[in-house]
Amino acid sequence: MKAIVDHDLCIGCGLCADICPEVFRMNDDNLAEAYADITPETQEKAEQARDECPVEAITIAE
Ligand code: SF4
Repeated sequence: MKAIVDHDLCIGCGLCADICPEVFRMNDDNLAEAYADITPETQEKAEQARDECPVEAITIAE
């Protein structure tokens, strides 16, 4: 599974990288990026990050 961050929506709050640093990190523009695939071990936290993103910028796809 992969996460996708819509950079037109992301406001750079950093929450997703705090919740699931195994998948999300902040880039040089202070926008989140999904730098790693989601694994069974990180799926729950990645989904939590998606659900808690204040602007619903995160999509998770197979
Ligand atoms: S939680 Fe949403 S708005 Fe905040 S950094 Fe992550 S993708 Fe961007």
